[in-house]
Amino acid sequence: MLSKKEKLDVVVPVYNEEECLDELVRRLILVKEKMNEVDMNLLFVNDGSRDGSILKLCSYAEKYSYIKVISFSRNFGHQAAVTAGLDQATGDYVAIIDADLQDPPELIEPMYTKAKEGFDIVYGKRSSRKGETLFKKLSARYFYKFISTMCDVEIPEDTGDFRLISRRVLTAVRAMREKHRFLRGMIPWVGFKSIPLYYHRDERHAGETKYPLRKMIRFALDAIFSFSNTPLRLATYLGLVIVVLGILGGAFLMYLRFFTSYYVSGITAAILTIVIMGGVQVVMLGIIGEYIGRIFEESKRRQLYIIEETKNLQGREANDIEK
Ligand code: UDP
Ligand code: MG
Repeated sequence: MLSKKEKLDVVVPVYNEEECLDELVRRLILVKEKMNEVDMNLLFVNDGSRDGSILKLCSYAEKYSYIKVISFSRNFGHQAAVTAGLDQATGDYVAIIDADLQDPPELIEPMYTKAKEGFDIVYGKRSSRKGETLFKKLSARYFYKFISTMCDVEIPEDTGDFRLISRRVLTAVRAMREKHRFLRGMIPWVGFKSIPLYYHRDERHAGETKYPLRKMIRFALDAIFSFSNTPLRLATYLGLVIVVLGILGGAFLMYLRFFTSYYVSGITAAILTIVIMGGVQVVMLGIIGEYIGRIFEESKRRQLYIIEETKNLQGREANDIEK
């Protein structure tokens, strides 16, 4: 008798990846054929692409029933797209992979093997990168170091969203409905056993990065402000340091005035103090503002994404996950 196969879902966020899709699907199908011990489904999330991506995806979905498509009503961003994929996944394991072939699909198999050894999270760690600008490499290296020291969770360095997670991690992450999402921090936050799988990050197969500097900065701010309250604490510490320095400075000036023949001109000291304190206060207000803005966004409790149509997805209705 046939024992029931384990299910593995592969989530792929897609934003204007028309030129990558054929090669990606070809390679994913090869992986599926090779891993015939599992029942593998491919879940593509079209994040409001403006090119022919959706047409391609729909024609694949028509041809293969294991290719499923979720299409957003507009561009909601990479993290929202991955979230939608995770929401719809039903597998015992779920893999997340970029559509641009920078993460080799062939690694899903060793990831699954590692997971079967008893790990809940197998994350792809980049041992080298090809075809990325020096800025991107440096920012990726120092950004993760910086974030790890700021946040209360240990976020593995040089790791993107390319990973395989077990059902129980999936369930936990799915319950986290915050608006500003930083999945590569949220998944480690869940805990459980995790292990890296080192790999060589390839060049983008075609097209351009969908993460221009502007989006990268927004992503970095999300990571810092949604994931830690260190900036607030730093503001408090800075305030304390300034108070202590002020008291010491004041005492010193009084000493000069009353016990020596020197004294500091009042105007210079006053203007300097006003300018410095003004700057410090504006920066602190900015930090508080970042948090208030986020509280405001969260308090609206809007859905994280809106689905326009789906293909080959039975059972769940488009927007019924938001609970
Ligand atoms: N992506 C997306 N929505 C966006 C931006 C990107 O779904 O608004 C997808 C994109 O199609 C790709 C993945 O997210 O599959 C990673 O994007 P990209 O490769 O451009 O980022 P990079 O590798 O340059 O950091
Ligand atoms: Mg990429």
